[in-house]
Amino acid sequence: MIVPSILQSAHQWASEVLTPGGAAIDATAGNGHDTLFLARQVGPDGQVFGFDIQEQAIQNTHRRLLAENAHRQVTLFQKSHDQMHEVLPEELFGKVQVVMFNLGYLPHGDKTIITRPDTTVRAMQQALQFLTFGGLLIAALYTGHPGGQEEAGRVIEWASGLSPRSFQVMWQQMINRDRSPSLLIIEKRS
Ligand code: SAM
Repeated sequence: MIVPSILQSAHQWASEVLTPGGAAIDATAGNGHDTLFLARQVGPDGQVFGFDIQEQAIQNTHRRLLAENAHRQVTLFQKSHDQMHEVLPEELFGKVQVVMFNLGYLPHGDKTIITRPDTTVRAMQQALQFLTFGGLLIAALYTGHPGGQEEAGRVIEWASGLSPRSFQVMWQQMINRDRSPSLLIIEKRS
């Protein structure tokens, strides 16, 4: 099959703009798959900042990075992604190539701890300030769990309102499957 899954597609988009020595943010570290991908793409001279509110997720991510010797370029925060403004240095404004969001709950974890519309949209607004021109905010949206549909709706409503002079906004989805996940891609224009 050549049509990629949502997560493969997310990584394909990200690899278009990530370069060795670059900077990226994983707004939902979870089990660390995306953080590891970002860390490999920017390499040992790059920087990745990962956020998750769950200790379990931070531990899982740290363990995965250590096992792959990709931990040195990554800083993890057990904090909500809408605190990225407070914890990341101002020098990063306008320098980040990719901010990834993979919404919903921690796979194999507590399914009641989920990303929420208010904090997600606030974090996305902050993420746009960190992006460099040509950088991408990439978000996998899920609608199969309680609250997912509402969150995806709020995110798409917010993204639809972004100025086309400043941002290119695209929404990818399989349309022949019920409640299939979708991918939002926002490019910051120069
Ligand atoms: N990217 C992850 C990976 O590669 O394994 C999967 C992420 S998982 C689908 C969603 C994660 O978002 C969960 O680990 C959950 O704890 C986290 N989360 C929920 N609310 C959050 C918040 N406000 N800030 C940061 N992370 C949050």
